[in-house]
Amino acid sequence: MTGRREAQLLYRQKGRCPICRTVFDLHEVLEEDHVLPQAQGGSSSYNNLQLLHRACHHSKTEWDRQRVCPVRPWRGDLGRRGAV
Ligand SMILES: [Zn+2]
Repeated sequence: MTGRREAQLLYRQKGRCPICRTVFDLHEVLEEDHVLPQAQGGSSSYNNLQLLHRACHHSKTEWDRQRVCPVRPWRGDLGRRGAV
């Protein structure tokens, strides 16, 4: 974790990984992901970033490549499902 942007992303995601929906553990390695991949025209702005577990990031990258990503962006997801 390297500072303010990660902290903001964590806060926005309510400390939760959008892929597996579990709360991040302090010991886990988190990676920044582009919600809409740059290869598909996504920007590098804060709004297009999210934090994922390393393993989840790998999964999503593969889904993005195949254009079958089953996970909606954080906006819809976290809003509707609420606290689990
Ligand atoms: Zn995860």
